[in-house]
Amino acid sequence: MNLTALEQERYARHLLLPEVGLEGQARLRRGRVLVVGAGGLGSPCALYLAAAGVGRLGLMDADEVDLTNLQRQLLHATGDVGRAKVTSAAETLAALNPEVAVQTYPQRLTAANAAAILAEYDFVCDATDNFASKFLIADACHVAQKPYSHAGILRFEGQTLTVLPGQSACYRCVFGGPPPGPVPEAARGLLGVLPGVIGTIQATEALKYLLGIGELLTDTLLVYDALKMTFRRVGVKRDPACGLCGAGAGGVD
Ligand SMILES: [Zn+2]
Repeated sequence: MNLTALEQERYARHLLLPEVGLEGQARLRRGRVLVVGAGGLGSPCALYLAAAGVGRLGLMDADEVDLTNLQRQLLHATGDVGRAKVTSAAETLAALNPEVAVQTYPQRLTAANAAAILAEYDFVCDATDNFASKFLIADACHVAQKPYSHAGILRFEGQTLTVLPGQSACYRCVFGGPPPGPVPEAARGLLGVLPGVIGTIQATEALKYLLGIGELLTDTLLVYDALKMTFRRVGVKRDPACGLCGAGAGGVD
């Protein structure tokens, strides 16, 4: 507990919620969330987590800000073009909420560094934009038994799923393995606001997990269609033959 007077003022709208209150806000302050990717999904996700008072945020991204990013990546501004994304993002988050400790990782998550980094966090948000990273995060979170929020976005459609390793359907249960080739350039268009919707849902899942409230988006793939303005819930199940979490996978559960 022991929120300072300034914290009580900043989080006043949280404290009015019985489901959060002083105890919940203190839980958020103790919370540690790793956001992998400081781009379209990572921007709203990290901004809302910082605003909410999550005490420690990890931000991982090896890229620099490019002019084409600014159509959707709200952590960065025009003057940040050419700077490291994690540096630009950390400054934006510090300006929003200086109470939050932001740890930056200007690198990619790899099989070699994942265990040591994931050990520092309670929840992981996969805000990456490529299949190789998504499968690596799923695999590393399974090994480390860290809950994570998966998300993917393309054109006008987004999808997201929350995974409690060993308890709910994992990314590989649902998608198997990476597709054979990269996504063609022509199919990589993206309505700029789309990651805003999906990244915000990822932040919501992280906050619910830290607070221990509500129902997580487990065993359910949420599919958002911006053109039709529909959210579809697709039930998914753990696959006993899953190469990662299945009975024969030699996993940890
Ligand atoms: Zn699985």
